[in-house]
Amino acid sequence: MDFSNLNKQTSKSFNQQKNLIKQLMKGKLMDCPKCKQAIKLYLPEDKVKPGARCAKGCTDIDLEFS
Ligand SMILES: [Zn+2]
Repeated sequence: MDFSNLNKQTSKSFNQQKNLIKQLMKGKLMDCPKCKQAIKLYLPEDKVKPGARCAKGCTDIDLEFS
């Protein structure tokens, strides 16, 4: 098995997620690439698991705050 392509894809989507979070942090409105609904950013003070999620759940990125 050759995992090199998989790793490349993973890091690419990782970078996309990082970029998405960055835009959300700046207060930009971002749409989920799948369902086209707004992605909401959840911060630790929101008392839910921090992350970026759309209403349907196809975008679900966990965030870790230290
Ligand atoms: Zn979605």
